[in-house]
Amino acid sequence: MNTLHRFNLLLTGLALMLSASVDAAPLFSPATAPDSLHGRAALALKMASQYSPSTAPLWIDLAASAVNADTASLEFELQGQRLTATRVQGVRLADGTISWSGAIAADSQEDEGSIDLVRTPEGVTGIIKRGDLYRIEPAGGRHHLLSLDTQLPALPRHGTDHSAPSLLSSAKDTAAVAGKASSAAGPSVIRVLAVTTNAIDKAQGARVRSLIQLGITEGNRTYVDSNIDAQMELAGYEPIAYGGTSMSQALQYFRDPRTPGSKAVRALRDQAKADVVMLVMGNDFYCGVAPVGASAEDAFMVVRVECLAGNDTVPHELGHIIGSSHNPENGSGALYPYAYGRQVCNLGRRNWHSVMAYPCQNRSARAQKWTSPIVMHDGRATGNAQRFDNRRVMEENRERVAGFR
Ligand SMILES: [Zn+2]
Repeated sequence: MNTLHRFNLLLTGLALMLSASVDAAPLFSPATAPDSLHGRAALALKMASQYSPSTAPLWIDLAASAVNADTASLEFELQGQRLTATRVQGVRLADGTISWSGAIAADSQEDEGSIDLVRTPEGVTGIIKRGDLYRIEPAGGRHHLLSLDTQLPALPRHGTDHSAPSLLSSAKDTAAVAGKASSAAGPSVIRVLAVTTNAIDKAQGARVRSLIQLGITEGNRTYVDSNIDAQMELAGYEPIAYGGTSMSQALQYFRDPRTPGSKAVRALRDQAKADVVMLVMGNDFYCGVAPVGASAEDAFMVVRVECLAGNDTVPHELGHIIGSSHNPENGSGALYPYAYGRQVCNLGRRNWHSVMAYPCQNRSARAQKWTSPIVMHDGRATGNAQRFDNRRVMEENRERVAGFR
């Protein structure tokens, strides 16, 4: 061993000792509320407060500079508890945006939790799940933290997913031919082009863009947590001239290649080499709609702004496109006998539902997991090989969908 080598080892050892002794970076602490909010900041708070049971936000001093791709852990206080989140995944994106996901360890009182953060020049947008659901957003040069209702009771999470029978059967054929286990090295990268209406972009473009990335960040963590070798990537964000307000009509309109709007969006999609198009819309009854088992020409989904993050709507709708269905109680006729999501509703406060499932009528928490005989939640498998294996659907089709463009 030469001297240089020994010196490097010494440095490595020193670095390890230092990193072990360094505390987690503080993420935020309580702050005083601003006197008043105007313009975009006021609108952002109003929009964010729609599903908050308490409309008064907690204003926080947030250390945006602590959120980096290589940040190992972050700590913060929530409801009187000191919590530490350790990195599950941290990425610096091409435009400089930081995407960071962490896990909050379970203790005897509470289930495990999660935090997903997106850092842009405007600040940090994030979701914390720890029994309850919280959203962090920048507003007026500061940040606020709002508790959101985990059930979003005012709206069903997802509408009936529209699938045209002819498209469905052709997608099934394609899947049967091409849907073999992918063997590509590294994760399949599914590029998502996000488009929104000019009106939404004008009113809250920067906010919506951060929420879109946060939905993707959150979805990517569900893939890591469920051992699915895929990642979504934002291929672009484009405002478009579209005035419709119904999500299901919008889906129909953009799936039809003959409409002018669809032609324009398809051109943008080709330009961005995006596998999938996500249209982001304002208020509707639903959180999202998408066709089940889409072909390359039909890979369109619609997601409502306020459902972009905290509700797994982005991975849910993409899950439909890739070929997964809801839990059998809320959907039938799956593409494959094992393509169902699952809800478990007889465990009281431990009730849960998977990414593709509807919540239990008597309340349940989204487990943020995909069904599978090899994915665990609360000490048990989330699924089985016969009926509940959304992970297998993802694994068998991820490379096919990643190759749409
Ligand atoms: Zn759905």
